[in-house]
Amino acid sequence: MNSARIGSAGLLLAALAAGTLADRPQSQPPLWIAGYRVLAADFHVHSYPMSASTLAPWDLVLEARRQSLDAISITGHNQVEAGLWGRWFARLVGGPTVIAGEEIHAPRYHLIAAGIHSTISWRNTAAQSIAEIHAQGGVAIAAHPVRGSWPAFDPQTMASLDGSEIMQPIVWSYNYYGARELREFYQRAPLAAIGSSDYHGMGPLGICRTYVFARDDSEQSILEAIRQRRTVVYDRDGRAWGDAALIQLAAGRLRDREPQPSGPLDLFSRWCGLLGLIGTLISGNRVVYSAMEKEIVPK
Ligand SMILES: [Zn+2]
Ligand SMILES: [Zn+2]
Repeated sequence: MNSARIGSAGLLLAALAAGTLADRPQSQPPLWIAGYRVLAADFHVHSYPMSASTLAPWDLVLEARRQSLDAISITGHNQVEAGLWGRWFARLVGGPTVIAGEEIHAPRYHLIAAGIHSTISWRNTAAQSIAEIHAQGGVAIAAHPVRGSWPAFDPQTMASLDGSEIMQPIVWSYNYYGARELREFYQRAPLAAIGSSDYHGMGPLGICRTYVFARDDSEQSILEAIRQRRTVVYDRDGRAWGDAALIQLAAGRLRDREPQPSGPLDLFSRWCGLLGLIGTLISGNRVVYSAMEKEIVPK
């Protein structure tokens, strides 16, 4: 029994060591294409405790750095406070750029408001929300606009939108209906193509991302780039969406900025961790059972 416990502890230590080695953040030098600073961004990120995520706003800032993201928008469900906290912390530690935002969770639509400073009501229609976002200097991005939300976006509302998510974890949905519907919505108006992870603490932050062609890495430049539709997104098949000229200019140069698949060291760490945990549980239970037996069984 002792050897089982020692073996499990060894596996957990191996998992920790391999995980630490595999986890080193890859710092990427700034990328310039055609006079634009190209930034990797994730505009749909949730934080603990206000909107069902495992990471607090300050943890998101550090995690964004680890995932080589230049910018994120922290978008609390129907509140902007998490974004304001995250932005404050990011400025304190020197980046990445955090844009305060909100995911407006209305019954008929979900909308990302990036670059706002006060909470916008979920009781608004989509058109009212977009007008308020613009009045606060922000940009409006349709969040996972699948068929059910389309009635909220009439042609006039579509014309006032700045962007829509073309790449989002929903594209891996059963039957790929998500990918088809996001594509169809995006093609209804000249919108900025957006890739977002809708991060709730489970998948990697930035697993879907947007390449923004901005003048610099400031919040104002990023928002301006979205208004001007200067974005590129790669879908799950590697097909590029967004500004046609920028797609051509960027060809092949953004590959190493894409989220990298798990390497052998990651997998080794995961399996050692899992087996170590199972081993610890089983050998721990044996200790409890044998102690109970000694108590219960009369000598
Ligand atoms: Zn949503
Ligand atoms: Zn969300």
